[in-house]
Amino acid sequence: MTATMLAAVAYTLGAPLHLSELPVPTPGRGEVLVEIRASGVCHTDLHAVRGDWPVKPSLPFIPGHEGAGIVVALGPGVEHLRVGDAVGIAWLHDACGRCEHCIAGWESLCERQRNSGYSVNGTFAQYALAHADYVARLPRDCDFAAIAPILCAGVTSYKGIRETDTRPGQWLLVSGIGGLGHLALQYGQAMGLRTLAVDVSAAKLELAHSLGAEAAIDAAAPDAVQTVLDITGGGVHGALVTAIAPPAFSQALRMVRRRGTVSLVGLPPGEFASPIFDVVLKRITLRGSIVGGRQDLAEAVAFAVDGKVRASIERFRLSEVNAVLGRLQTGGIEGRAVLELGG
Ligand code: NAD
Ligand code: ZN
Ligand code: ZN
Repeated sequence: MTATMLAAVAYTLGAPLHLSELPVPTPGRGEVLVEIRASGVCHTDLHAVRGDWPVKPSLPFIPGHEGAGIVVALGPGVEHLRVGDAVGIAWLHDACGRCEHCIAGWESLCERQRNSGYSVNGTFAQYALAHADYVARLPRDCDFAAIAPILCAGVTSYKGIRETDTRPGQWLLVSGIGGLGHLALQYGQAMGLRTLAVDVSAAKLELAHSLGAEAAIDAAAPDAVQTVLDITGGGVHGALVTAIAPPAFSQALRMVRRRGTVSLVGLPPGEFASPIFDVVLKRITLRGSIVGGRQDLAEAVAFAVDGKVRASIERFRLSEVNAVLGRLQTGGIEGRAVLELGG
């Protein structure tokens, strides 16, 4: 008799996920089977199930790419992991390992990468397959729900901040204080930066204050840009945009100082306007940033294991996934929603 598992499956783009009973997959060469204990719910999962992006996921698929759990079976050829190891499954499911980007430690740019919860089944399920060479290593005794958000929100924030080229003592602005942004404030402070927060929601601004942001500014206030320029004496050195609204991207460009860098990680569909004159005369750097490679992931996890960053989480059951996605869409999740599974 084949063992079965519960999974939240997208059968149609834009429709609610369906809780289905599916066969537990068998790990192939180089793969491991992971019993998922917790999975964070990223706004990317919402983009995926809505079909927001130019490249659509192929249906049906299981979303989820912040999966933390235990290895329960090894496929052929896996030698460096053991049954019982705690691991994390991230967006970067695997990559070719041979192209110029993979060789340079930029697997996240590999054109042949596969993505968990998008091009391969993800972690909104009791079990998921992972590539043994691409899992994050987690402490055996960790709180899986607390560490899960680090696997995407954490690493993306950490890498995105590094991409601003800021140095300790300088100003970092985080626009969008959701799952990513509330961790970005903590990574920024742990990296010695002074942090400012921008969001449109009073509750998120309050969260930012409680997390140590020196100021939390309402993006919709007419004087939002001027407030940032005044506090920082001419603008922040780096800005990380995690917001899910295109106007936030244009706004952040006006909040950086001369020679500043804006690191873009939010992925709302659409475009944004950038003022050519300001970008040129202020020598502003505009940089996209996509998750992180395996070394970035290991470093991001280490910050959490050392207690330097801690996700604010709200715990849910897998059966509540559609309600969670609904709340994420309307901005009603503070910090990160995490689905807890079995265990
Ligand atoms: P989230 O829903 O938890 O947070 C988004 C935040 O943006 C909310 O707090 C919301 O209030 C805020 N916001 C909305 N409009 C705003 C505005 N005009 N100005 C400032 N803030 C505003 O989402 P999340 O899980 O943190 O993901 C954020 C975005 O990052 C999504 O588009 C997601 O797909 C993307 N993402 C990108 C990467 C990457 O590697 N580049 C990785 C993960 C997620
Ligand atoms: Zn994500
Ligand atoms: Zn490659």
